[in-house]
Amino acid sequence: MDTNKDRSKISDSKRIVIKIGTTSLTYDNGHVNLNRIGHLTRVICDLMNRGKEVILVTSGAIGIGVDKLKLSGRPATLSGKQAAAAVGQLMLMNIYERFFSEFSQTVAQVLLTKDVTDGAESRHNAINTFNELLAMGVVPIVNENDTVAVDEIKYGDNDYLSYIVAKLTDADLLIILSDIDGFYDKNPQQNKDAILLHTITDLSEEIEKNAGGSGTSLGTGGMLTKVHASRLAAASGIFAVIANGEKPEVIYDILDEKEVGTVFVPENKR
Ligand code: GLU
Repeated sequence: MDTNKDRSKISDSKRIVIKIGTTSLTYDNGHVNLNRIGHLTRVICDLMNRGKEVILVTSGAIGIGVDKLKLSGRPATLSGKQAAAAVGQLMLMNIYERFFSEFSQTVAQVLLTKDVTDGAESRHNAINTFNELLAMGVVPIVNENDTVAVDEIKYGDNDYLSYIVAKLTDADLLIILSDIDGFYDKNPQQNKDAILLHTITDLSEEIEKNAGGSGTSLGTGGMLTKVHASRLAAASGIFAVIANGEKPEVIYDILDEKEVGTVFVPENKR
């Protein structure tokens, strides 16, 4: 397969949604990985300087709240998780604000719940707000509003939220930063011969099912939700890439159309 051809329109992407998860934002001991956040924010500021528009979808509210509150682990109760998120979201934004302000980059907090983007009027208002922020050169930083979200109004996970945001904002590219290199044909932790799938052009639900059997990567690192979100984004005409966020500079490689991570190629960009 001619991978470069499949990626040949990625560099044209103007509006980019970048999603980063809790495991990429924290160390194994639960503390915040400031080094990684520093690299990520620097790359985003540089992309803004290049003339791109960037929206960051970030997790970490609950994880960072748990750490700040010195809890032994994630609370079992809904209200416990909501309380941890209320503490953690503030700290998360405080950290982003500090890093982004090093380069005089203004950021905004956008907290969403599923009912907001499901309802026609509230969705319309959310779209207008995003467009206004981007037109002002601001980087919107999005998370689910975990403090008030209950099951009925939850997206479920931030991978799905990142797809919703990409679709809502008519983005050109969705980058989901993970803790593994991309989507493998088998679970790479259990199979030494697992092959990284660089290009996905079959956007049918089948790829999730095929990959969903035992011995696949889906059970680890939340790959299923990443593949699901990426597939839906590509089916909506948005390039989607799952890549390793260990070094956020991988975003440059993606935009340079290098063969990193797994790209889901929309039909209109082939
Ligand atoms: N919104 C959650 C948080 O900030 C994360 C959800 C997810 O990672 O899927 O803690």
